[in-house]
Amino acid sequence: MNIPISKINFTEEDYTYIRKPLDNGWIVQGKFVQEFEEKWSEFTSSENSVAVSSCTTALHLSLSALNIGPGDEVIVPSFTWIATANAVEALNAKPVFCDIDLTTYNIDPDKIEELVNSNTKCIIPVHLFGLAADIEKIITIAEKYNLAVVEDAACGFGSKYKGKHVGNFGICGCFSFHPRKALTTGEGGMITTSSKSLSEKLRSMRDHGAAVSDLQRHLGSKPYLLSEFPYMGYNYRMTDIQAALGCSQMNRKDEILRIRKLWAERYNEAFEEIDWLVKPFMHPDYIHGYQAYVCLFRPEEITENNVEKIHTMRNFFMEYLSNKGISTRPGTHAVHIQKYYSGKYKITPADYLNSYIADRCTIAFPLYTSMTEEEFGYIVSSIRSYELP
Ligand SMILES: *Cc1c(COP(=O)(O)O)cnc(C)c1O
Repeated sequence: MNIPISKINFTEEDYTYIRKPLDNGWIVQGKFVQEFEEKWSEFTSSENSVAVSSCTTALHLSLSALNIGPGDEVIVPSFTWIATANAVEALNAKPVFCDIDLTTYNIDPDKIEELVNSNTKCIIPVHLFGLAADIEKIITIAEKYNLAVVEDAACGFGSKYKGKHVGNFGICGCFSFHPRKALTTGEGGMITTSSKSLSEKLRSMRDHGAAVSDLQRHLGSKPYLLSEFPYMGYNYRMTDIQAALGCSQMNRKDEILRIRKLWAERYNEAFEEIDWLVKPFMHPDYIHGYQAYVCLFRPEEITENNVEKIHTMRNFFMEYLSNKGISTRPGTHAVHIQKYYSGKYKITPADYLNSYIADRCTIAFPLYTSMTEEEFGYIVSSIRSYELP
């Protein structure tokens, strides 16, 4: 068997949809981008959705539109995809790392307040692997100190907290449609916001800062005149080809989420007896989107002293599965140990110990909608028959 960590699964409807912009000749941001945005707003119950070229550009654009810049500090979790911190660096602002709660892998709200100072402007909570961050507490802190909250909801498709879809808690929420996420347009991203004025600024800034989009101009009364440019902007447009792919997948969004959840629950059941794998956090306030199914490899309590030993044991286990044709991955990485950040800000691994432990000892198992019973059975029996050294 050869079982990947994830697998894209396109349907005939996807192929039909993607042909439409190719046939009609309007392939950059146009009416499919508009349709995708409308579908996204409806699904997430957001007032405004602005499509962009990736979640990284969504984060960069959001922070830029909020005028984050030199001298400003932005609090980010130290265990996340590196893009969360890079978006802050790209504006010459300073990312200030905050450790995570090892039971949820999300930013630990009890460690945020001590990081706030007069330069702090924003918090970026990440809804990692499809589990919402402890967002109520984060919003309370943000309100107390008048900080913006930009949600990194890259993995947040279908993730809810107390019935509310992520991306609706902060001033804006940033989503990703990279192939490793549950819904993909190849590359792609989306920003949700309840602020009409911010959404208009974002729409302009994603398109070089133009006041009027190409489609509006084309359909308007004076298509021969160029737009004015009230803002400094970027080219972070999504193409209509990508948006068409997004639209057709939105037609089966519930099915995608249902199947992912089903496999995650099957893993939970199958791993019940395996006490050295800590299953993903579950709580009635949260609906997990299961962008990934991630466990902590924990044959014994993990501390600063034994983390390297357990890391070696985890890699040994991953190697065993790899030899059986089963792909696994670490959950994600600790950003503060990446050379650029550890060097620039003089950070050591143990400065954010939970993030370091998560980096060294988490493991993501295969999860995709087209996974078969046979593949699932093979993964589970391989794991069950593994004997810890
Ligand atoms: C995937 C991911 C990103 C980056 O998304 P892109 O669309 O690839 O730019 C950012 N943050 C988190 C938490 C992610 O998982």
